[in-house]
Amino acid sequence: MAMESDLQQTISLPGEANTSPLTHPGVISVVHNEQYRLEQELEERVRQLEGIFEAMTDGLIVYDREGRVLQTNTAAERLLAMNNQNISYYQRSVRERAPFYTVRDEHGQLLTAEQGPVMRVLKGEKLTSENAMDIQVSTPDGREIQLSVNCSPLHDQTGQFVGAVCIYHDVTERRANELALRVANQRMDEFLSMASHELRTPLTTIKASIQLARRRVASSLQEIVSENDTQYSKLVEMQAILDRAERQVNMQNRLIDDLLEVSRIQAHKLTLHLKECDLATIVREAVEDQRATMPHHTIQLELSVTEPVMLSVDADRIQQVLTNYLTNACKYSPADHPIVVRLQVKGEYICVCVHDEGPGLPPEEQAQVWERFYRVQGIEAKNGSTVGLGLGLPICRAIIEQHQGQVGVESTPGIGSTFWFALPLTGK
Ligand code: ADP
Repeated sequence: MAMESDLQQTISLPGEANTSPLTHPGVISVVHNEQYRLEQELEERVRQLEGIFEAMTDGLIVYDREGRVLQTNTAAERLLAMNNQNISYYQRSVRERAPFYTVRDEHGQLLTAEQGPVMRVLKGEKLTSENAMDIQVSTPDGREIQLSVNCSPLHDQTGQFVGAVCIYHDVTERRANELALRVANQRMDEFLSMASHELRTPLTTIKASIQLARRRVASSLQEIVSENDTQYSKLVEMQAILDRAERQVNMQNRLIDDLLEVSRIQAHKLTLHLKECDLATIVREAVEDQRATMPHHTIQLELSVTEPVMLSVDADRIQQVLTNYLTNACKYSPADHPIVVRLQVKGEYICVCVHDEGPGLPPEEQAQVWERFYRVQGIEAKNGSTVGLGLGLPICRAIIEQHQGQVGVESTPGIGSTFWFALPLTGK
């Protein structure tokens, strides 16, 4: 703007009609001023950019089209120990620099200079965001580092390829933590698998013994003629004790089953027995079973389909998922608030929802409940056992995902929750 108005003023100078305005001394001075201003602006921009480069914690290197280093920031020099090199390092091409570093891919496979990120981008590839390249580097000062490298080609104003810019993000610590976590998880899975097998064996014997004792008590009761016999009341009391013991053993068995199931899932050993089944029938049966187990709850069923919904699924597993949703709904919501089960087609999916008027879940908990061993603090079971390991929902998710489906929950604290799963109709 300043340039245009200065120029107009100069052109309209009186008595200068025969002189070309562009050769007029006033014009030359304006042009010089303008050039000076642009240079100043340019210098300012360069200073700003240098400031940004230096403030970056990631290493940044600008290369020319041969892969020679044009510019670096301090972070790059520190990360790659570039100050260990003599100055001619900067004039060397990528291939000539290769002996200074040993570079491997994320699996530890040695990379040649051609396979490294700089050469790849100089040959026209773009290594950004999801294409970022993970490498392991042995630096000249003897460090082993892991880098995530983003590289983009650089072009001049005319679109000519002039080089590349690479950003080196140090992920050494993150990768070490990930590895430690993987190892710890693997150890825990091995332990769970072993512990649940070991726990189950004596429990099977205990359960068999309880059942035998119950049968003996029942037959002794039949032999007693009068209910007034003192033996009779003792045997009835014993029967109640054995009933309680069996219930506890069943609960223990369920927890161990969950542990075993989760070990199988972690080891990718969860097998499905797929068969063409009607999903509406599976849902109806699961609801009827739950009504029988929890007679105090009202469970409404809304099937928005009239025809059978034939899908290739493992019926027992799908029923297991729905039963888990229903058990949780009954467990966490008051008995006088209805639970509604819906079956509806949504696009290419058939969706089963279980809605309750329980405590609901805050948004941050809604994703967490699908993680292993996660239990929401401060939510009390209204009915049934409070015992749980936080494994039911992760098992549901694994089962549904193995059917190529999806799970989810929509919930408002204080209002209620809708746990759902969706199975693809296309796979039927
Ligand atoms: P658990 O067997 O311990 O109940 P789940 O994996 O089935 O484990 O559930 C994980 C947690 O999610 C539960 O401990 C509970 O806090 C929460 N939760 C599950 N279902 C509901 C529900 N319908 N309403 C409120 N909270 C729920």
